[in-house]
Parts: sequence; C-alpha cells; structure tokens
Amino acid sequence: MRRRSILSLDSERVRVTVRVRPPTKDEETKEDGLPFIFLDTEKNSVILRRKGSFADFKEFKFDAVLPETAPQVDVYNAAAQTVVQDVLDGYNGTIMAYGQTGAGKTFTLSDIVTDELVGTTVEGIIPRSAADIFLKAETDKDHEYHVSMSYIQIYMEMIQDLLRPENSNLNIRETENGEVYVAGVEEIQVKSVQDVMKLLMIGDQNRNFAFTKLNAHSSRSHTIGMITVEKKALQPPGLRKALTERNRRGSNLTMPEKVLVGKLFLVDLAGSERLKRSGSEGIRATEAMSVNMSLTTLGKCISARADPMVTHVPFRDSKLTRLLQESLGGNAKTSLIVNVAPCGEFLQETFSSLQFGSRAMKVSTRAIVNIEEEFRVITKNLQQALEIQDKRLHS
Ligand code: ADP
Ligand code: MG
Repeated sequence: MRRRSILSLDSERVRVTVRVRPPTKDEETKEDGLPFIFLDTEKNSVILRRKGSFADFKEFKFDAVLPETAPQVDVYNAAAQTVVQDVLDGYNGTIMAYGQTGAGKTFTLSDIVTDELVGTTVEGIIPRSAADIFLKAETDKDHEYHVSMSYIQIYMEMIQDLLRPENSNLNIRETENGEVYVAGVEEIQVKSVQDVMKLLMIGDQNRNFAFTKLNAHSSRSHTIGMITVEKKALQPPGLRKALTERNRRGSNLTMPEKVLVGKLFLVDLAGSERLKRSGSEGIRATEAMSVNMSLTTLGKCISARADPMVTHVPFRDSKLTRLLQESLGGNAKTSLIVNVAPCGEFLQETFSSLQFGSRAMKVSTRAIVNIEEEFRVITKNLQQALEIQDKRLHS
C-alpha cells in the first residue's frame, strides 16, 4: 500500500476559468443574440446584462476569463498547465468542464485537429496535457516514467468502462488511505500523445455506439479520462554497485525505491441545462433526472465545501461526487472551466453556470504529495554511511 507523507501539504483554492465560445452563424443573426455578456479580461470578471437594460446586470469574478477569440493554447495555459505540472510532481489533479450542452466543454477538453497536410495536431486540454507529460518523461533523466490511462463514463448512475464496454457497471471503492478508485477499470499503458488520442477515440466510439443503441444523446453522461503518471527515481550511478559489493561481503543493505504517483482526472460533465430543455418523456426524462441529480449533488458538495460552518458534504449521494470527492476538498489540485454560450437565448443557463463557478471559487483542497525527498534523503544517508565505512576501512 502506498504511504502518504505529509512533508508537503498545499492548501489551495479551486481555480475557476470562464470561457465564452464564439456565436454560431444562427446566433449572430438572432434577435436575442448579442451583446449581453461582457468580459473584463483585466479584472477577470464577467458582466451579464439583460437585453436592453443597463441597470439589470450582475458581475462575477474569476481567476481567468477567456473571450471567444481565445485560442486553445491560452485555455490550456490558464486552466490546465499548472495542474499537469503538479501531477508530474506527484499530486492528484482534476480539470473539469461545466456548462450547458453546446457551450464548448468537449471542444475545450478533447478537440483534435486532423489536417491532411500537417497531420494530427494537439489542440484541446487532453492532448496538450498528454504532450506535456510525455515531454517531461522524455527529458527527465533522473526518473523512469510509467504512464497509463483509463476512460469511463457515468450514465444513469452506472460507471461504464469506455475501453472495455462490456464492463458497464463498475463499483467505486476506497483504500485504507481514503483514496477513491474505480474497481476493475481497464488501465492501459500509453507511451505517446498518439496512444492517448487513440484510446480517447476508441472510448468515444464505444460511447457513441452505446448511445446510438439507446437512441440517447451523449451529453447525458459525464466522461472521465484518468491519466496516471508513475515516476521512479533512478538510482545514482555507482551506488548500486557499491551496495552489491558490500552485500557480497556480508552486509544486508537494501536500495530504497521510491515511486511517485500523480493522477490526472479530466472530466467532461454532462450538460447542465434545465430539465425542460432536454425533453421529458420516458427514458429521456429518467436520464435528465439522473444528470440533474448528479450535477445538483455536485453543486451541493461545492456549496458545503465553500461554507466552513457546514461539516457534512453529501459526496456519497452520487457516483460523480463520490469519484470526485478528493477533487473537491481532499487530496487534489482542481481547476474548473465554466463554458458558456454567447447569446441571450441562454441567459438563464449562463447565469446559473456562472453562479456555479462563483461558488466553486470558495472551495479549497489540501493536496498532499508523496515527496521524493524521502528517497533522496535515504539515498544520501546511505551514501554517507558507505563513505564513512570506506574511510574507516582505509585508515
Ligand atoms: P459541449 O461539449 O459543451 O456540448 P461542444 O464542445 O460540443 O459543446 O461545442 C459545440 C459546438 O461549438 C461544436 O461544434 C464545437 O466545435 C463548437 N465550439 C465550441 N467552442 C468553440 C470555440 N471556442 N471555438 C470554435 N468552436 C467552438
Ligand atoms: Mg460535449
């Protein structure tokens, strides 16, 4: 069982970024189109105004606000880069996208551009995160990396393995340390950005296939990509040789081995639109209720975590919040992206998404890292002990 040391304990607020998508051609010509949402990128605030009214407005403040013109790289830098670096340092990290269907969540997270001339280029946060992870793995000469990936969705409170679709109802378990995990989920080793994108594509195909069979819409599920980075400190040259030598002469010294594990959760939440927009008959109603229930629980957990007086957080009320428990106040660094549409038609949805984001600004997490220092200290002590022995032998 992995041991956690509390050598480093970072308490830090959930980081919230708002991204407005460009209007579609339709929206540009609509009557209740623009403008009703204004961004102040200097002050990181969003001003929402009812059409035709200068008095009726509300201002929200965030960590970053990105206009429709913001390229994917800006979104990555604002909302994801530090989380990915933290994961490489052995923390758990979560990046999640919230917003109504069509607001740009999947575009923000998973967009991949395939161009016949240029080939495939990384665009969204997931391929960019993978690129940063593999760049580090290739250039870091002091560590050996093992990167693996899982891909699941939560649909109607069931966890389905998108890389092994026959596993359609996996369970959530907890280790002795309180780490929450999906039991029996497929974890596949990935060695390049292409490997990650291939698994995403396979997962999305499985997802679409399942949804087509049910005649359902994919925005009715939450998808979660999980990338696990294990990094093992390489033994300093010469030390192993010295140890082997010593042990041959009757000592019983062991080489310390420290593995640092960081987990990155990439969460594309189901559409947050209200029930009446998503249709309300038969299975569609049950789906919508299930999405509503889990997003409402997510909101409740965030509100509870944002209020220091509240001690009970209803993590166990939905699979989503149970799985994201650590991301919302436990051992994780968390970044939330609130995706919004630019037109007046969605004023209500945009308002409630921004409110959700505002509340999340008040949530703090306490990330813990299994510090590598421990490995270095032991190694250094061992080296010194060997040197002292050597000196004694030769004096
Ligand atoms: P969601 O996942 O929130 O339902 P999507 O990511 O599927 O929304 O976005 C809906 C549509 O808008 C897609 O066709 C997508 O390509 C486009 N879109 C979203 N955000 C942007 C953006 N920032 N720039 C250009 N197109 C975008
Ligand atoms: Mg989507």
